[in-house]
Amino acid sequence: MKIAAERIERLGLLAKEAAAAGDAERARTYVRRARRIAERHRLSLPRKLKRFSCDSCDSYLIPGRNARVRTQDGHVVVTCDCGAHARYPYD
Ligand SMILES: [Zn+2]
Repeated sequence: MKIAAERIERLGLLAKEAAAAGDAERARTYVRRARRIAERHRLSLPRKLKRFSCDSCDSYLIPGRNARVRTQDGHVVVTCDCGAHARYPYD
């Protein structure tokens, strides 16, 4: 279990690096891999990865580049370039 969590964590970092380098496709591959491991092991994604990935298209989101972030009614609303929204409690 612990190894799976570590792999997910690592894939999240790789996704972030790939996205920062402008390689959206590679970032998406890492996000998908992390999600698959999480599902298989019934783990939840680390909050950071959950919030910076799109549930709909698996993009790793970088606000200002491929995602918009707004606050609304005490929530953070993240909109991916694909059009999907995600809402999180503000914290
Ligand atoms: Zn998306």
